[in-house]
Amino acid sequence: MARFDEKVALVTGASRGIGAAIALRLASEGAAVVVNYAGSRDAAVSVVDAIVAGGGRAIAVQADVTDPAACTGLVQSTIDAYGTLDILVNNAGITRDGLLVRMSDEDWDAVLTTNLTGVFSMTRAAAKVMMKARTGSIVNISSVVGIAGNAGQANYAAAKAGVIGLTRSVARELASRNVRCNAVAPGFIETDMTAKLTDAQREAIASGVALGRFGSGEDVAAAVAFLASDEGSYVTGQVLAVDGGMTFA
Ligand code: NAP
Repeated sequence: MARFDEKVALVTGASRGIGAAIALRLASEGAAVVVNYAGSRDAAVSVVDAIVAGGGRAIAVQADVTDPAACTGLVQSTIDAYGTLDILVNNAGITRDGLLVRMSDEDWDAVLTTNLTGVFSMTRAAAKVMMKARTGSIVNISSVVGIAGNAGQANYAAAKAGVIGLTRSVARELASRNVRCNAVAPGFIETDMTAKLTDAQREAIASGVALGRFGSGEDVAAAVAFLASDEGSYVTGQVLAVDGGMTFA
Protein backbone atom coordinates (compact mmCIF):
# COMPACT_ATOMS: atom_id res chain seq x y z
CA MET A 1 0.00 0.00 0.00
CA ALA A 2 1.36 3.43 -0.98
CA ARG A 3 1.60 6.28 1.55
CA PHE A 4 -1.29 8.30 0.13
CA ASP A 5 -3.63 5.56 -1.08
CA GLU A 6 -7.24 6.68 -0.48
CA LYS A 7 -6.06 10.20 0.43
CA VAL A 8 -7.26 13.35 -1.28
CA ALA A 9 -4.84 16.26 -1.70
CA LEU A 10 -5.38 19.82 -2.86
CA VAL A 11 -2.30 21.74 -4.03
CA THR A 12 -2.65 25.45 -4.78
CA GLY A 13 -0.53 26.84 -7.60
CA ALA A 14 0.22 23.39 -8.95
CA SER A 15 0.41 24.30 -12.64
CA ARG A 16 4.14 25.03 -12.51
CA GLY A 17 7.31 24.85 -10.45
CA ILE A 18 7.26 23.58 -6.89
CA GLY A 19 3.47 23.07 -6.81
CA ALA A 20 3.57 20.87 -9.91
CA ALA A 21 6.37 18.78 -8.36
CA ILE A 22 4.32 18.39 -5.16
CA ALA A 23 1.19 17.34 -7.08
CA LEU A 24 3.17 14.76 -9.07
CA ARG A 25 4.85 13.40 -5.93
CA LEU A 26 1.62 13.03 -3.91
CA ALA A 27 -0.14 11.41 -6.89
CA SER A 28 2.78 9.02 -7.47
CA GLU A 29 2.22 7.76 -3.93
CA GLY A 30 -1.48 7.18 -4.42
CA ALA A 31 -3.27 10.47 -3.65
CA ALA A 32 -6.13 11.81 -5.74
CA VAL A 33 -4.92 15.35 -6.43
CA VAL A 34 -6.69 18.61 -7.20
CA VAL A 35 -4.26 20.67 -9.31
CA ASN A 36 -5.18 24.31 -8.71
CA TYR A 37 -4.06 27.14 -10.98
CA ALA A 38 -4.82 30.83 -11.43
CA GLY A 39 -4.31 31.48 -15.15
CA SER A 40 -2.11 28.72 -16.61
CA ARG A 41 -4.81 26.30 -17.67
CA ASP A 42 -2.74 24.43 -20.26
CA ALA A 43 0.12 23.91 -17.81
CA ALA A 44 -2.29 22.62 -15.14
CA VAL A 45 -3.89 20.23 -17.64
CA SER A 46 -0.39 18.96 -18.54
CA VAL A 47 0.25 18.14 -14.87
CA VAL A 48 -3.09 16.30 -14.69
CA ASP A 49 -2.30 14.43 -17.93
CA ALA A 50 1.08 13.34 -16.54
CA ILE A 51 -0.57 12.05 -13.35
CA VAL A 52 -3.29 10.18 -15.25
CA ALA A 53 -0.70 8.73 -17.68
CA GLY A 54 1.11 7.34 -14.65
CA GLY A 55 -2.07 5.61 -13.46
CA GLY A 56 -3.03 8.28 -10.91
CA ARG A 57 -6.10 10.42 -10.30
CA ALA A 58 -6.17 14.21 -10.72
CA ILE A 59 -8.29 17.12 -11.88
CA ALA A 60 -7.38 20.73 -12.65
CA VAL A 61 -9.46 23.44 -10.96
CA GLN A 62 -9.09 27.17 -11.59
CA ALA A 63 -9.32 29.42 -8.53
CA ASP A 64 -7.61 32.64 -7.51
CA VAL A 65 -6.51 32.32 -3.89
CA THR A 66 -6.83 36.08 -3.40
CA ASP A 67 -10.62 35.63 -3.63
CA PRO A 68 -12.00 34.09 -0.40
CA ALA A 69 -15.17 32.89 -2.15
CA ALA A 70 -13.04 31.15 -4.78
CA CYS A 71 -11.10 29.41 -1.99
CA THR A 72 -14.34 28.08 -0.51
CA GLY A 73 -15.37 27.00 -4.02
CA LEU A 74 -12.05 25.22 -4.55
CA VAL A 75 -12.51 23.16 -1.39
CA GLN A 76 -16.09 22.40 -2.45
CA SER A 77 -14.90 21.29 -5.91
CA THR A 78 -12.50 18.90 -4.16
CA ILE A 79 -15.32 17.42 -2.07
CA ASP A 80 -17.57 17.17 -5.14
CA ALA A 81 -14.86 15.29 -7.08
CA TYR A 82 -13.36 13.04 -4.43
CA GLY A 83 -15.65 13.13 -1.38
CA THR A 84 -13.22 14.56 1.17
CA LEU A 85 -10.02 16.56 1.72
CA ASP A 86 -7.12 15.03 3.68
CA ILE A 87 -4.14 17.14 2.62
CA LEU A 88 -3.96 20.85 1.78
CA VAL A 89 -0.72 22.26 0.41
CA ASN A 90 -0.74 26.07 0.34
CA ASN A 91 1.87 26.64 -2.34
CA ALA A 92 0.54 29.44 -4.60
CA GLY A 93 2.75 32.49 -4.39
CA ILE A 94 4.13 35.48 -6.26
CA THR A 95 6.97 37.98 -6.01
CA ARG A 96 6.91 41.74 -6.67
CA ASP A 97 10.44 42.65 -5.66
CA GLY A 98 11.70 46.19 -5.09
CA LEU A 99 13.64 48.28 -2.65
CA LEU A 100 11.59 49.42 0.34
CA VAL A 101 11.58 53.16 -0.38
CA ARG A 102 10.41 52.55 -3.94
CA MET A 103 7.92 49.77 -3.20
CA SER A 104 4.39 50.68 -4.31
CA ASP A 105 1.30 50.04 -2.23
CA GLU A 106 0.09 47.82 -5.06
CA ASP A 107 3.19 45.60 -4.91
CA TRP A 108 2.94 45.36 -1.13
CA ASP A 109 -0.76 44.49 -1.25
CA ALA A 110 -0.46 41.98 -4.12
CA VAL A 111 2.17 39.92 -2.34
CA LEU A 112 0.50 40.04 1.09
CA THR A 113 -2.91 39.22 -0.40
CA THR A 114 -1.66 36.26 -2.43
CA ASN A 115 1.05 34.83 -0.19
CA LEU A 116 -0.52 35.37 3.25
CA THR A 117 -4.24 36.12 2.98
CA GLY A 118 -4.55 33.39 0.35
CA VAL A 119 -3.10 30.86 2.81
CA PHE A 120 -5.52 32.08 5.49
CA SER A 121 -8.57 31.82 3.19
CA MET A 122 -7.64 28.35 1.96
CA THR A 123 -6.83 27.09 5.46
CA ARG A 124 -10.09 28.43 6.89
CA ALA A 125 -12.10 26.72 4.15
CA ALA A 126 -10.23 23.41 4.46
CA ALA A 127 -10.19 23.41 8.26
CA LYS A 128 -13.97 23.17 8.41
CA VAL A 129 -13.84 19.89 6.47
CA MET A 130 -10.81 18.49 8.29
CA MET A 131 -12.08 19.36 11.80
CA LYS A 132 -15.35 17.59 11.06
CA ALA A 133 -13.46 14.54 9.77
CA ARG A 134 -11.08 14.72 12.75
CA THR A 135 -8.11 14.20 10.48
CA GLY A 136 -6.04 16.29 8.13
CA SER A 137 -2.63 17.70 7.30
CA ILE A 138 -1.91 21.21 6.07
CA VAL A 139 1.51 22.10 4.67
CA ASN A 140 2.28 25.75 3.95
CA ILE A 141 5.11 26.80 1.64
CA SER A 142 6.94 29.62 3.37
CA SER A 143 10.53 30.59 2.46
CA VAL A 144 13.95 31.06 4.03
CA VAL A 145 13.33 34.72 3.22
CA GLY A 146 10.53 34.67 5.82
CA ILE A 147 13.10 33.56 8.40
CA ALA A 148 16.17 35.59 7.46
CA GLY A 149 14.71 38.53 5.49
CA ASN A 150 16.08 39.70 2.14
CA ALA A 151 16.92 43.13 0.75
CA GLY A 152 14.45 43.96 -2.02
CA GLN A 153 11.80 41.58 -0.73
CA ALA A 154 10.19 43.36 2.26
CA ASN A 155 6.70 42.41 1.03
CA TYR A 156 7.61 38.79 0.31
CA ALA A 157 9.56 38.36 3.58
CA ALA A 158 6.70 39.84 5.61
CA ALA A 159 4.17 37.53 3.95
CA LYS A 160 6.34 34.43 4.36
CA ALA A 161 7.10 35.26 8.01
CA GLY A 162 3.35 35.73 8.46
CA VAL A 163 2.81 32.24 7.05
CA ILE A 164 5.04 30.85 9.81
CA GLY A 165 3.01 32.58 12.55
CA LEU A 166 -0.20 31.43 10.90
CA THR A 167 1.13 27.86 10.68
CA ARG A 168 1.97 27.72 14.37
CA SER A 169 -1.37 29.24 15.42
CA VAL A 170 -3.33 26.83 13.24
CA ALA A 171 -1.25 23.93 14.60
CA ARG A 172 -2.17 24.88 18.16
CA GLU A 173 -5.82 25.56 17.35
CA LEU A 174 -6.55 22.40 15.37
CA ALA A 175 -4.38 19.84 17.18
CA SER A 176 -7.26 18.71 19.39
CA ARG A 177 -9.14 17.72 16.21
CA ASN A 178 -6.16 15.70 14.92
CA VAL A 179 -5.41 18.24 12.21
CA ARG A 180 -1.71 19.05 11.81
CA CYS A 181 -0.21 22.15 10.23
CA ASN A 182 3.45 22.58 9.27
CA ALA A 183 5.51 24.77 6.97
CA VAL A 184 8.33 24.10 4.56
CA ALA A 185 10.82 26.93 4.03
CA PRO A 186 12.57 26.40 0.69
CA GLY A 187 15.79 28.15 -0.15
CA PHE A 188 16.51 28.95 -3.79
CA ILE A 189 14.75 26.45 -6.04
CA GLU A 190 14.97 26.19 -9.85
CA THR A 191 11.56 27.46 -11.09
CA ASP A 192 10.11 30.32 -13.15
CA MET A 193 10.30 32.42 -9.97
CA THR A 194 14.11 32.23 -9.86
CA ALA A 195 14.68 32.03 -13.65
CA LYS A 196 14.95 35.83 -13.85
CA LEU A 197 18.07 35.93 -11.65
CA THR A 198 21.27 36.92 -13.47
CA ASP A 199 24.28 34.58 -13.57
CA ALA A 200 26.09 36.88 -11.14
CA GLN A 201 23.13 36.77 -8.72
CA ARG A 202 22.93 32.99 -9.01
CA GLU A 203 26.63 32.58 -8.24
CA ALA A 204 26.39 34.92 -5.26
CA ILE A 205 23.38 33.00 -3.91
CA ALA A 206 24.91 29.56 -4.48
CA SER A 207 28.08 30.64 -2.64
CA GLY A 208 25.92 31.19 0.46
CA VAL A 209 24.44 27.70 0.26
CA ALA A 210 26.39 25.01 2.15
CA LEU A 211 25.61 22.44 -0.55
CA GLY A 212 26.68 25.00 -3.17
CA ARG A 213 23.69 24.73 -5.50
CA PHE A 214 20.01 25.57 -6.02
CA GLY A 215 17.42 22.93 -5.11
CA SER A 216 14.69 21.35 -7.23
CA GLY A 217 10.93 21.22 -6.91
CA GLU A 218 11.35 17.52 -6.16
CA ASP A 219 13.54 18.37 -3.15
CA VAL A 220 10.70 20.45 -1.71
CA ALA A 221 8.07 17.87 -2.68
CA ALA A 222 9.88 15.15 -0.71
CA ALA A 223 9.70 17.24 2.48
CA VAL A 224 6.04 18.10 1.86
CA ALA A 225 5.23 14.42 1.36
CA PHE A 226 6.81 13.54 4.71
CA LEU A 227 4.89 16.24 6.60
CA ALA A 228 1.63 15.39 4.82
CA SER A 229 1.95 11.67 5.48
CA ASP A 230 1.28 9.59 8.57
CA GLU A 231 5.04 9.33 8.99
CA GLY A 232 4.80 12.92 10.21
CA SER A 233 1.89 12.16 12.52
CA TYR A 234 3.70 13.49 15.63
CA VAL A 235 4.96 16.64 13.87
CA THR A 236 2.94 19.85 13.99
CA GLY A 237 3.72 23.57 14.11
CA GLN A 238 7.17 23.04 12.63
CA VAL A 239 9.09 24.86 9.93
CA LEU A 240 11.31 22.57 7.88
CA ALA A 241 14.00 24.39 5.90
CA VAL A 242 14.77 22.77 2.54
CA ASP A 243 17.55 25.12 1.57
CA GLY A 244 20.77 23.18 1.09
CA GLY A 245 22.11 24.71 4.27
CA MET A 246 21.45 28.45 3.83
CA THR A 247 20.02 28.83 7.30
CA PHE A 248 20.92 26.83 10.37
CA ALA A 249 18.17 27.91 12.75
P1 NAP B 1 6.14 29.71 -9.84
O1 NAP B 1 6.94 28.78 -10.67
O2 NAP B 1 6.14 31.17 -10.18
O3 NAP B 1 4.63 29.16 -9.76
C1 NAP B 1 3.68 29.86 -9.00
C2 NAP B 1 2.41 29.07 -8.94
O4 NAP B 1 1.47 29.80 -8.12
C3 NAP B 1 1.76 28.90 -10.30
O5 NAP B 1 1.16 27.62 -10.35
C4 NAP B 1 0.68 29.98 -10.29
O6 NAP B 1 -0.45 29.67 -11.10
C5 NAP B 1 0.27 29.98 -8.84
N1 NAP B 1 -0.40 31.21 -8.43
C6 NAP B 1 0.10 32.47 -8.41
N2 NAP B 1 -0.84 33.33 -7.98
C7 NAP B 1 -1.95 32.59 -7.73
C8 NAP B 1 -3.26 32.90 -7.27
N3 NAP B 1 -3.62 34.16 -6.99
N4 NAP B 1 -4.15 31.89 -7.14
C9 NAP B 1 -3.81 30.61 -7.44
N5 NAP B 1 -2.59 30.26 -7.87
C10 NAP B 1 -1.68 31.24 -8.03
O7 NAP B 1 6.60 29.67 -8.30
P2 NAP B 1 7.47 28.58 -7.50
O8 NAP B 1 8.88 29.00 -7.54
O9 NAP B 1 7.08 27.21 -7.90
O10 NAP B 1 6.95 28.89 -6.02
C11 NAP B 1 5.93 28.12 -5.38
C12 NAP B 1 5.88 28.54 -3.92
O11 NAP B 1 7.16 28.32 -3.31
C13 NAP B 1 5.56 30.02 -3.70
O12 NAP B 1 4.76 30.17 -2.54
C14 NAP B 1 6.92 30.63 -3.48
O13 NAP B 1 6.86 31.82 -2.76
C15 NAP B 1 7.60 29.51 -2.72
N6 NAP B 1 9.06 29.55 -2.74
C16 NAP B 1 9.73 29.48 -3.92
C17 NAP B 1 11.13 29.51 -3.91
C18 NAP B 1 11.96 29.43 -5.17
O14 NAP B 1 13.19 29.59 -5.09
N7 NAP B 1 11.38 29.16 -6.32
C19 NAP B 1 11.81 29.63 -2.69
C20 NAP B 1 11.08 29.70 -1.51
C21 NAP B 1 9.70 29.65 -1.55
P3 NAP B 1 -0.52 30.11 -12.67
O15 NAP B 1 0.50 29.24 -13.36
O16 NAP B 1 -1.90 29.78 -13.08
O17 NAP B 1 -0.16 31.55 -12.71
